[in-house]
Amino acid sequence: MAVQQSVGQDPYFPGNGDLRYRVHRYELTLDYRPAPNRLSGSARINAIAGRGQLTEFQLNLADFRVGRVKVDGRAAHYTHRGGKLRVRPAKPVRAGAAFTVEVQWSGNPRPVSSPWGGLGWEELEDGALVASQPVGAPSWYPCNDRPADKASYQIAVTTPSAYAVVAGGRLLTRTTKASTTTWVYEQAAPTSSYLVGLSIGKYQTVLLGAPGPGGVPQHGHIPAHLLPRFSRDFARQPAMMDLFQELFGPYPFDEYAVVVTEEELDVPVEAQGLSLFGSNHVDGARGSERLVAHELAHQWFGNSVSIADWRQIWLNEGFAKYAEWLWSERSGGRSAQQLAAAAHRSLSALPEDLRLADPGRKSMFDDRLYQRGGLALHAVRCALGDDAFFRMLRGWAALYRGGVVTTAAFTAHVARFSDEPLDELFDAWVYGTALPPLPSSGTRAAV
Ligand SMILES: [Zn+2]
Repeated sequence: MAVQQSVGQDPYFPGNGDLRYRVHRYELTLDYRPAPNRLSGSARINAIAGRGQLTEFQLNLADFRVGRVKVDGRAAHYTHRGGKLRVRPAKPVRAGAAFTVEVQWSGNPRPVSSPWGGLGWEELEDGALVASQPVGAPSWYPCNDRPADKASYQIAVTTPSAYAVVAGGRLLTRTTKASTTTWVYEQAAPTSSYLVGLSIGKYQTVLLGAPGPGGVPQHGHIPAHLLPRFSRDFARQPAMMDLFQELFGPYPFDEYAVVVTEEELDVPVEAQGLSLFGSNHVDGARGSERLVAHELAHQWFGNSVSIADWRQIWLNEGFAKYAEWLWSERSGGRSAQQLAAAAHRSLSALPEDLRLADPGRKSMFDDRLYQRGGLALHAVRCALGDDAFFRMLRGWAALYRGGVVTTAAFTAHVARFSDEPLDELFDAWVYGTALPPLPSSGTRAAV
């Protein structure tokens, strides 16, 4: 069941997204030439107007040349400045009415600059990579760029036949004509704009594990020379998938793919049905296995259950961090309690000025948010006990599958699995900034 909540403009990125309408499907047709780094695209966007009549609306799109914009088949007025495409339909769209926007654009895609460096479309030495979190999606396509506006996607990419195109979702067709190949992917599940991932490169494709009936197909796309290291580093991913399905409930999408790029990445990045790793994340010694678990866990927490706005990011990162600890605990490594203790020790040496519930834009990707988020979940687990805790997690993933969530929705959800009020726990861990004492399983319901 998808639960949609009404949400306001994102205070961290007030220039992104438009609350006056919602998109339910994007169809993107792209042509990309790696050597000149040239992208030309057309988008067909099916949307629904909100409560008011729509005399104008906005899409986010970086600095491309925009060819033509149509609304319901008629040429529309538009201006395109500062990453915003403002569209005025020839005829206003009625409140609540479905409408279609068509946009054509072309140019040399480049990352959107941000406090965290370039985001979105990145030209690689031999190919391209898209990793948009949080606001890089407009670097390659026009979108209503806010995480709560989730839509289905069809993405067709034409590129020279030497390259493989990997996008999250199911590969529908692959057609070669002369020297180019067109790859068509369908992602039917509701997807946030920042989670539309794409990679174009020279990859070898391997199947991980052997999915039985009802199993999740898992593919790896890797430069050939990294295959030996990849095979060892990702060997346990099918076991991880099994464990997470046991703990979190059914994997929310039809398939899962991982890409390892030829180049190094600061951190791996999750996309819908897809995770992107750098060559530095494979060492042949499972040195980054916790990140393999982290990115896989985001498919449940972040991608299927998505945040209503960026203030809620701990609901993505705290959960993915805790999944790392669960994988460790269940695969013969350190227990979640030991990892929680280590995280607690490291946090106790750092400033205590970060509030999980609203960390501020600057601290969205602060490692303290990840660690404290993991600890907050550990505190919930210690308070509820394992049985109720994992029922709570599976319930969370099932109830909000395909939807969006807030911290308030989470605390209300948890309360249903507890005999005692947990206000103190959430006040301390989620709404407060001081570091509470380390929770342990012996201290049920204690803060
Ligand atoms: Zn993460």
